[in-house]
Amino acid sequence: MAEIIKGKGAVPGVAVGTVLVLSTDLNKALAKYAQAAPEVEEKKYYAAQQTVADELEESVNNARGKDKKEQLAILETHHGIILDPVLRAGIVEKIRQHMAAPLAVLKTSEEMAQMFADIEDAYLRERAADIKDVGKKIVHEMLGIGQPDFERENLIICGEEIDPCVIADLPDGKVTGVIIGHGSTTSHAVIIAKAKGIPTVVGLGQAVKRIENNTRIVLDANQGTVIINPDEGTSESYTEKAKKELELNQYYLSLSELPAVTLDGTGVTLAANIGNPKDIDNALKYGCNGVGLFRTEFVFMGRETLPTEEEQYTAYKYVIEKCSGKLCVIRTMDIGGDKPLPYLNIEKEENPFLGWRAIRICLERTDIFLTQIKAILRAGVYGNAAIMLPMIISMEEILGAKAIIRQAMSELESEGKKYTSQIQVGIMVETPAAALMTPVLAKECDFFSIGTNDLTQYTLAVDRGNPSVSKLYSPYHPAVLNLIDTTVRAAHSNNIWVGMCGEMAGDPVASRLLLAMGIDELSMSAPSIPKVKEKVRSITLDKALVTRALSQLNADEVTKLLV
Ligand code: PEP
Ligand code: MG
Repeated sequence: MAEIIKGKGAVPGVAVGTVLVLSTDLNKALAKYAQAAPEVEEKKYYAAQQTVADELEESVNNARGKDKKEQLAILETHHGIILDPVLRAGIVEKIRQHMAAPLAVLKTSEEMAQMFADIEDAYLRERAADIKDVGKKIVHEMLGIGQPDFERENLIICGEEIDPCVIADLPDGKVTGVIIGHGSTTSHAVIIAKAKGIPTVVGLGQAVKRIENNTRIVLDANQGTVIINPDEGTSESYTEKAKKELELNQYYLSLSELPAVTLDGTGVTLAANIGNPKDIDNALKYGCNGVGLFRTEFVFMGRETLPTEEEQYTAYKYVIEKCSGKLCVIRTMDIGGDKPLPYLNIEKEENPFLGWRAIRICLERTDIFLTQIKAILRAGVYGNAAIMLPMIISMEEILGAKAIIRQAMSELESEGKKYTSQIQVGIMVETPAAALMTPVLAKECDFFSIGTNDLTQYTLAVDRGNPSVSKLYSPYHPAVLNLIDTTVRAAHSNNIWVGMCGEMAGDPVASRLLLAMGIDELSMSAPSIPKVKEKVRSITLDKALVTRALSQLNADEVTKLLV
């Protein structure tokens, strides 16, 4: 019998597929791991290594019989890596130096992966990811975590909560839907799913527990529903809908070359928001004009140690080069809030979104910040990069960050490394404090980018990730609009450019108003670019709309005015 569960559509679209329930988080399991004496840890490692090697061998034999060449090649590579004596020796050495076996495996595989990542030869460089995968397989075996197999077709992943970096790292094309029990439309996991164009339903609450592994379901993110065990007719009609959506997507992709200009000739830059460096490839297909927000915290997440300067340099350079001279705005890491970093040991906070987050961490852990800035400045040589500071509330923070940028330049100079000294430095305007102070802050900034996701949460005192209050959360609230308008005016009276990189930028309903306010750039998830462009190309500028919108009493009245 089919069962329908109601949630909220967060990324539109439909999907028919099989459920993969994501349960235990690696970091949580690592934190609970009880470390034994080195001899015992070593035995545990060998036992796990043997089990995974046996499983891989079995999979190799299965794939051989089925003529799955690509899969076979990957499995054979993994089998070779797991038996590699250098990897084994590195792990055993760390265990003997009293490191817990799972951590020793993770660290050694990451170190070895980094060595491969630095190799010129493209084939060998790509083996870095395989080494990390193998390390994770052994660790999962040791910790008793069932490792999700994302390689099956038409998977719909489901969890009470899903770590944003799990979605950021999904392989392309296999996962066709996401279900999150908690979360709301602007939680980071959803933002990443949106960038990848994966239909997503959130806010199912406890009902999410009724969705079991391997069940067949229909996900309708347009209606915000999940149908468990759908009958054949329902499955077929949704498969047909999914096909039509793919065709529509092809149409949107075909708009990639058109300019984003209104009927009366006002142009606006449409840039992309990315998390994972590889996201730039998809964003370019949708016709992005540079990157307006590179959420670099994803370079720090989903791993067990801080990324080195070299690792970061490689990630930033990849994106900057792909932007081919167009601006690439690199936001310094915005850790904290709903993006924790377990290896930083941030103390448990009552209100993480009001706590030790983003620039606050960077100005205290200047070692981390300096390394990141150096990597950005070095990567900046390969194109046109900008540094953007998140969560700013005061001028001191901007001046503090700029001092570190100067220090990074002088250290690079004495290290004899190439770097760019011509780099724009701007801020996210995502706190009411920053928005109200923009006339002053503009003196020290080359640009502003309005982060409506946080600006809305902090202005309205509504948690952006809490489905119980999501009714109250809207960037169209006149209070938020007033802060946006203040920011745009302050930027222009100080002759600097102003963009927007919160989710509002990707909502075509907002385009008419934002262009009337005078916004210079809109940065959004890649699939939203052609939709906003289509809207921009259909409108004429109406400056009077701003006063009308700002004088409405609530968000509903504003949206009525705009649609
Ligand atoms: C924002 O707050 O609007 C923003 C773009 O930053 P993030 O969503 O990463 O917090
Ligand atoms: Mg933000």
